[in-house]
Amino acid sequence: MRAFERLIAPDGYEVALFPCEALYLTEAREPDEHSVYALDFLPRNALGETTTSMPCYAPFSGKIVYTGSDHNCILESDDLVHAPNGTLKYMRVLVAHSETAPILNTHYTQGQRFYTTGNFGQSSGEHLHMEVSIVDNKRDQYWNTGGIGLYNATHMWDLLYVNDTVLLRPEEYNWRVYEGGITPQRKRGKFPWVLYTRKLREKNV
Ligand SMILES: [Zn+2]
Repeated sequence: MRAFERLIAPDGYEVALFPCEALYLTEAREPDEHSVYALDFLPRNALGETTTSMPCYAPFSGKIVYTGSDHNCILESDDLVHAPNGTLKYMRVLVAHSETAPILNTHYTQGQRFYTTGNFGQSSGEHLHMEVSIVDNKRDQYWNTGGIGLYNATHMWDLLYVNDTVLLRPEEYNWRVYEGGITPQRKRGKFPWVLYTRKLREKNV
């Protein structure tokens, strides 16, 4: 997605979008933390060039409901959101490693910059760590049983459309573009693997 991009379906609910202008997956997804649903992306601009401080736009309108020790945070949708797998549910996105600490309860409208790639915390190089989940109820727990990922997380390509994202290194995954009945509204317009030695979640939280 691009800055300030909004995508609203005919029923009035937002369509979830991949939060960056470019998608460049890291080459490996080990250790176990990443073998489930979290993925890491390297900072690239829409021309495919290496960049720094890659902006991440809110994939849906929502607010920061959790912040953690790696400057990680969870953005939770205000309302139900359309996803490529056909669901219309509340959605959460977990991101980590920005150099700037996110602020709890900050609200972002879809398309507003809400995060930036960085190398803060348990990270060996600038990247965006991301995981996405859907929930039936906002009161549902944030974390999975192991405490290392989002509760009810699902494959990212099943929850985020890649409209207006340049797919530089999508690998074999089934990324999809939302094409049906949309009302797009534009307001104003070998890298070393990232090693995690502890949980993203703060202990005792
Ligand atoms: Zn990661």
